[in-house]
Amino acid sequence: MKIGVLALQGAVAEHIKSLEQAGADEVVAVKWPADLEGLDGLVLPGGESTTIGKLMNKYELMEPVREMAKNGVPMFGTCAGLILLAERIHGQDWSHLGVFDVLVDRNSFGRQVDSFETDLDVKGLEGDEKYRAVFIRAPHIMEVGDKVDVLSTFHDRVVTARQGHILGASFHPELTDDVRLHKYFLSMVEEAKK
Ligand code: GLN
Repeated sequence: MKIGVLALQGAVAEHIKSLEQAGADEVVAVKWPADLEGLDGLVLPGGESTTIGKLMNKYELMEPVREMAKNGVPMFGTCAGLILLAERIHGQDWSHLGVFDVLVDRNSFGRQVDSFETDLDVKGLEGDEKYRAVFIRAPHIMEVGDKVDVLSTFHDRVVTARQGHILGASFHPELTDDVRLHKYFLSMVEEAKK
């Protein structure tokens, strides 16, 4: 199982480490279109979605990544990565990859100084323990399409959701030692390979 982590900006090394701990055979940093070759799944990290989107266009990654998503390659977007996947962004008439049937609102939990951690119930994870989630200028999902499953909410706001092979989380799962969400993504990759 070969997983890529989009490595244009953000917590790339942390995602690579979490994926390795979760049991991925091979994890590679993706900077160029050629790095997408042979990937079974792709993680889009947090950072700043406008910047990452611009860099994806500059490095000619937007089109091939969109194609991969349309062809069923599993993708996991966290924070800015979720915004990149979304079909609709609140207050904006354009999107980035536009492959995830959700409407997202950016920076919807306050400013940088208001970043926070909380314990969530996330559907589908191993065990009963709550999942510690780190929110940093996080987006939330305002609306989901028919085929989207809500996996967790925080104060009635959707913060984790899945649509078949696409997974999105508002928070930063790579910043804690709990790799259950990365394991969940790897199980989606295994499912897709069958
Ligand atoms: N606020 C950022 C954005 O709109 C996302 C923040 C993050 O990824 N930690 O892109």
